Amino acid sequence: MARTDRGRIVIISSPSGGGKTSICRRILTPARRRAGWTFSVSYTTRHKRPGERNGREYHFVESEAFARLIAKGFFAEHFQVHQYNYGTPRQPLEKVEQKGGTIILDVDIQGAFKLRQEYPDAIMIFVLPPSIAELRKRLKRRGTETAEQRRIRFERARQEMLAYDQFDYVVVNQELEVAAHQVLSIIEAHPCRIERVKKEQIRSIIGLA
Ligand code: 5GP
Repeated sequence: MARTDRGRIVIISSPSGGGKTSICRRILTPARRRAGWTFSVSYTTRHKRPGERNGREYHFVESEAFARLIAKGFFAEHFQVHQYNYGTPRQPLEKVEQKGGTIILDVDIQGAFKLRQEYPDAIMIFVLPPSIAELRKRLKRRGTETAEQRRIRFERARQEMLAYDQFDYVVVNQELEVAAHQVLSIIEAHPCRIERVKKEQIRSIIGLA
């Protein structure tokens, strides 16, 4: 009945420390992966953090290689975020558009807005931390940045949070379990949105066709 066959592009965005990466990990269970859910693995020029694997969290590339990919039109969007380059490869999005499935993107706010222009049917979810104080704590606890890098991220995060009302949904990440459940519910319910449902099919159900 619903146009699930067209595939779902899910853009999850938040300020740094909002917790979107944990949510993405939580919802992409092996069972969902088998059912055609994938994660959009971005390209980045930043260094690998401990525990990250090339091709899993990101494709880690040098600046020159990144520039060559831009020139080839490889990216659906690319931006500089916190001094490094990040880009979403176009091909996995096109595949989902053509063949169906669900693709989850974890991108910054600039990337989310750029993607929306090209993929207006994308589901845009903004994840907020429960408070500014909690955000500051999370950035510190992560321990992956220097104090100066943290300060830059924090200031930027405050600015970015003002853009919440340009998204389709806002999820407050107080408790990971609850937030992940809300994100899943949003994705699952999307094919039932009135603008996604095929009118002819409904008319035939009602006996009007
Ligand atoms: P991190 O370096 O902490 O993994 O990510 C920094 C920021 O870059 C996060 O807000 C993350 O969502 C964002 N990001 C990751 N991949 C992409 C991408 O392909 N495009 C854009 N625009 N932002 C990205």
